[in-house]
Order: sequence, then structure tokens, then C-alpha cells
Amino acid sequence: MRRGLRRHGLLMGNIFQPHAELAQVTELAADAAGKTADVSVWGVISDIVPTSVLTSLVNETVLQVIFFALVFGLCLSYMKISDDERIRTISTTMYNIFDCLSEIMMRVVRGIMQYAPIGVAVLICEVFAKNGAKVAGALVTVTVACFVGYAIHIVLAYGGLLKIYRIKIGTFFKEARTPFITAFVTRSSNATLPTTMTAAENLGVDKEVYAFSLPLGATINMDGTAIYQGVCAFFLVMSCFGRGLTFGEMGMIVLLATLASIGTAGVPGAGAIMLAMVMQGINMPIAEGTILAGAYAMILGINAILDMGRTALNVVGDLTCTCCVAKHTKFLREDSVLK
Ligand code: ASP
Repeated sequence: MRRGLRRHGLLMGNIFQPHAELAQVTELAADAAGKTADVSVWGVISDIVPTSVLTSLVNETVLQVIFFALVFGLCLSYMKISDDERIRTISTTMYNIFDCLSEIMMRVVRGIMQYAPIGVAVLICEVFAKNGAKVAGALVTVTVACFVGYAIHIVLAYGGLLKIYRIKIGTFFKEARTPFITAFVTRSSNATLPTTMTAAENLGVDKEVYAFSLPLGATINMDGTAIYQGVCAFFLVMSCFGRGLTFGEMGMIVLLATLASIGTAGVPGAGAIMLAMVMQGINMPIAEGTILAGAYAMILGINAILDMGRTALNVVGDLTCTCCVAKHTKFLREDSVLK
């Protein structure tokens, strides 16, 4: 299903074809005419296992780093519940170290992000100065494409799932409204977690289910982010190279975004950082001074608006899955309003 979501975003990209007519593109387009990024899905899959993690880190080979982190994290989580007390103790110590490192990094990133608006404003100024106000229309198309994608996803995917599991759609959305609005305003799945939990409780889901599924969902389930990445990747390639995405690149984006979103934090703006990683994965790194960096800055300029919609979608997705799992595993309370 998660792969379907990425295709969903790419579908919106193909329908709306969002792109900006950027200066320099004509020269670049001549260069890039018919030339596609040198990627094949099988090539990437076979390249995903790192021979040396340090080399992957130094070379910024994103996919290999994510792959290693997933394997490392999975092993650590198994060790934490081992029967052997020694293994449990050392793995908990290791976990605490990583937890601490993660908190430190969060603070560093938050500190840097305070100054990000200045950098984004300067980059956008440069893009508008070079290309004129006409590029604003492209940003409107990106926004519309994303929000239409979000809306279709709510109706088809969530509505469909609720219907399959015979959960009353009206009752569900009445309760989901508060976490939806909270997520829209805070732009953070994590910050919305207490509200989402209350909604799950009110919907009659057993705490045993939602206490596990909602934090997990807030960490790894990012439907809205996936749709956003599909649309924006399309925008970046079309604006900078004057062409759409090839099937190979679309397959790559599906794969990369699926893996990368697992590692995305449920905090404001995380999806935009992920987008840069996805672009790097299809051999189109967003390097300083390139036209791609200018187009990416344009996306960053409207990131807050796009983030509101995608976070609301992410949160409603977590709640939908939680209710469906609870219904399937019979963890809905007798007095559940869903019955
Ligand atoms: N803000 C989103 C969330 O918290 C993540 C993102 O930026 O896509 O779910």
C-alpha cells in the first residue's frame, strides 16, 4: 500500500505536470534532451547493501546508510527484549546513547532551521529575479496537485478501508476532526499524538492497540509525505530538465521514498529534507548554486502550506489504520461507537 501512495503522488505529478519555466532550462534541456538519470531499479536494489558503512557515510550514499540504520535498529530492538540479562543491559545502554545522539541532532537541526527562512528567502529572491513572477503560477499548480492528491487519498484509500472494515465513516471523521486540525496547525505528527490517542480512545479502540500503533504510525507512516514527494520530484525534474520522469525514475522514487519515509521524523518540515535525499537517490543531487537548488528553494518557500496538508493526512492515516487493525483483531470495546 505504501508503494501505491508514492505512485499516487507521481500520478498527481503526471496529471498536473507542475513545472516552472526557469531561465537556464533551455540550455540545460538541450543538454538533457532525451538524457535520463543513470539509474535502474535493479541496479539500485543490488547496490543497496553497503560494503563499508563509513564509506557510505562519507560518500553520502543515502540508501545504503538508511539500509544499515534499519538493520542496526532492528537488531537493537530484538536485543532489548532478549532473555539474557547481559544482552538486555548492553543493548539498553546502546539505545540510550543513540536516543541521546538523536536528541542532540534534533536540537542542532532545530537551531539551524531557525535561520533557514533567511536562506530560503534569498534563494527565492534569486529565482524570481531571474525568472519573473510567472514562476508563482507553477507553485500554485504544485500546491493544487498536492492537495487534490491528499483529498483523493482520504476519500479513496481511507474511506475505502473504513468501508471494508465496516467502520462508520461519519463517526470516524467526526472524531478524526480534532487530530486533523491539530496536525494541520502544528505540522507535526508527534505533537499531535496525544490528540490522536484521545480520538482513538473515543472511537472505542483498545489502549493495547493504539498505544503501540499510533506512535509507530507517527514515526513511519507518512502517506501525505509520500504524495508530496511524488509531486515535488516531478516538479523539480520538469522545471530543471524540461522533461517528465521516466518509468525507471518513477520506480526509483517509489522505492527511495518508501525506505526514506520510514526514517522521517514526525516533525515540521522533515519531508522536505527527505525530498532532497530522494533527489540524490535518482542521481540529481541538490547541490549549491545549481538550478535544481533554485527550484528546490521554491518548494521550500511553500513548504509550510504543503506540510499542513500532508501532516493532517499522515495523522488521519495512522488513526484509520489503528481503527482497522483494532476491528480486525477484535480490540474494539463492546460499547465502541464504531459498531
Ligand atoms: N510534518 C510531517 C509530519 O509530522 C512530516 C513531513 O514533513 O512530511 O508528519
